[in-house]
Amino acid sequence: MNNIIDGKLVRDLKIEELKNKVNKLQDKLTLVVISVGDDEASRVYVSQKEKFALKIGYNFKNLHFDEIDESELIKEIEKLNKDSSITGIIVQLPLPEYLDKNKIINSVSPSKDVDGLTNNNFLKLIKKEECIIPCTPKGIISLLDYYKVDLQKRIVIVGRSELVGLPLFHLLLHRNATITLCHSKTNNLKEITKDADILIVAVGKKGLITKDMIKTGVVIIDVGINRADGKIYGDVSEDCFEKASLMTPVPGGVGPMTVISLMENVYLAYEKGLKNESR
Ligand code: NAD
Repeated sequence: MNNIIDGKLVRDLKIEELKNKVNKLQDKLTLVVISVGDDEASRVYVSQKEKFALKIGYNFKNLHFDEIDESELIKEIEKLNKDSSITGIIVQLPLPEYLDKNKIINSVSPSKDVDGLTNNNFLKLIKKEECIIPCTPKGIISLLDYYKVDLQKRIVIVGRSELVGLPLFHLLLHRNATITLCHSKTNNLKEITKDADILIVAVGKKGLITKDMIKTGVVIIDVGINRADGKIYGDVSEDCFEKASLMTPVPGGVGPMTVISLMENVYLAYEKGLKNESR
């Protein structure tokens, strides 16, 4: 099939670009991932982040707690905020339910928030100010740009999470797209998705989007990750490849772009830090 959007290919190109920039630095950048509890998927994601951080030439630390008090965790984050040897900090999600996710994410200094999830970064994103952009939306825009997809089109996003759909809505609006944002309470989803020139789906339901819900020639970005019978599936059924002009596979589409976007954000946090120092 020649209509595949190849996330691994774009990721590998971006790895080389970033490695070259990082190689030229005198300083060694450090990414810290904070994780709590024993979520199995999180363990895989943390080790992926480690693998790519080391590949780029960063230091990597995983600060893991089986269990920790909210106030203790915030103290740990504040220590990292003040530590000038740390470039970027991320809090691996999901956190156990007894912890207040928002409070913890917002205790990360916005200048080290390489996931771009603090309120400070989100407000700047909405206002189109310089900021750190959340990794998955950033990776999706990079993919669409690499494949030269015109964004001044009718775009439908399915899923309104703070991690994906909501920031993506604003980023695409800044690029003059005309966007409909759908969610679990949207009626007649099919009537809306059928109209999309570009369809982006971030829900977490295998096979939510079927061939009869799309128009011929649509560009599809499938963000979903669903595990079933030992395999990984997206939210879009595979036969949509027959009608789409371009479509991301799962795995191998958006996932690889999320990781490289995180690595790019670490570099950006470093650059921004230098700028602030010289003021
Ligand atoms: P979430 O659970 O926070 O949000 C899901 C969204 O889907 C919600 O806004 C909800 O309103 C909407 N929704 C639920 N059922 C719906 C329905 N029937 N019709 C329309 N909308 C519906 O999830 P999330 O964190 O945004 O992640 C979504 C999916 O993307 C998950 O499968 C997740 O694993 C995956 N994901 C992948 C990457 C990646 O790098 N590939 C990154 C982040 C998330």
